[in-house]
Amino acid sequence: MSKTIFIVILIIVIGNYLLELILSLLNLKNSTKEVPKELCDIYTPEKRDAQRKYQRVNIRFGALTNTISLAYSLTMLFVGFAWLNNNILLLTQNPLWHTLLFFLVYITLSSLIDLPSSAYDTFSIEARFGFNKTKPATFLKDSVVSWILSLVMQGVLMLVLVLGYIWQPDWLWLIAWVVVSIIVIFINLFYPQIIVPLYNKQIPLAEGELRNAIVEFANKVGFKVENIYVMDSSKRSTKANAYFTGWGSKKRVVLYDTLLEQLTNEEIVAVLAHEIGHEKHHHTLRGMMSALAKMLLLFVLLGIIIKYDDFALAIGCEPTFVAKFIVFMMLYQPISMLLSVISNVISRHHEYQADKFAKDNGMADALISSLKKLTINDLGNPLPHPLNVFLTYSHPTLSQRIIALKQ
Ligand SMILES: [Zn+2]
Repeated sequence: MSKTIFIVILIIVIGNYLLELILSLLNLKNSTKEVPKELCDIYTPEKRDAQRKYQRVNIRFGALTNTISLAYSLTMLFVGFAWLNNNILLLTQNPLWHTLLFFLVYITLSSLIDLPSSAYDTFSIEARFGFNKTKPATFLKDSVVSWILSLVMQGVLMLVLVLGYIWQPDWLWLIAWVVVSIIVIFINLFYPQIIVPLYNKQIPLAEGELRNAIVEFANKVGFKVENIYVMDSSKRSTKANAYFTGWGSKKRVVLYDTLLEQLTNEEIVAVLAHEIGHEKHHHTLRGMMSALAKMLLLFVLLGIIIKYDDFALAIGCEPTFVAKFIVFMMLYQPISMLLSVISNVISRHHEYQADKFAKDNGMADALISSLKKLTINDLGNPLPHPLNVFLTYSHPTLSQRIIALKQ
């Protein structure tokens, strides 16, 4: 049994690697085609040339990092996990300490392995194309903050799971689901107050023309916006965005300062009209519900698998909680991918709905010009392969959105 499990894991890990490779090759093949006519005005020959170069560099670099991470996964599967699991077992037999120590080492190791490629991406690729604004000190601070954050988050998750497992193994799924759901909802509620300040400063948008235009539009469509913030994203990158975050009275609009530099006031209002469209259709709430439902499925399956020692033996580990958990997460990967494809289909539908809301409120042209500016500034891919769009895109392509907005 444990041998079969190991082979299934190998098929999943290698299959995933090959799928990513095939998807990027399909994108590369598609990039020789003509740009859709809706986008000809922004993809001038020079821009198209720069975009193709940017895409090619990213595909090559992606293939390299995927290969490194495949090698890392295989090393961990064949020897790493067993070595880590069995050696920590010599230090402590206590399942709680064993699990926490295991994750401390594993997360630190994974963060260190990611560090060089992330640095190369930021300081070489992004810098070469003029996107990078990150200073080495900011990069270092971000890396440390992200490492601590994932230690805390995963540590808390593992704490809940191990304690639930020790206390009531048959009800692990329910205990884990309830506790983790409460934590997830709490973090979502206070995301702008807890997580964002670890990386960025947010200051209220100053009184003036833009603020008035936003409030006026929001009032017109019967939507309350009180908290409008500007975030200093320009200290990392020139890429721009805007989003709504938090719930109820904690809800706030966050505008990247780079957005204010690149767009006119009317275009910014159009971007917000799209975001208000999401709120009006309760997409955030629905997204949260589906995330909780997915978590329930994950914990129910975990509750079943965690009882069988064969899953730990499959990767040469003494049957500890954490070894079985690691194997479970690897086996869960195809299910998680299938769920994300479904989520992407729904999300693309939501994007059309939000665009339609902006259009119905007279913002179609301004939204089109803002989307065009943002895409060309980021050298976005005008021609992703349809299979890529279907499997991995949470948003329709720019030309699909423009066609729908013009209808
Ligand atoms: Zn959207």
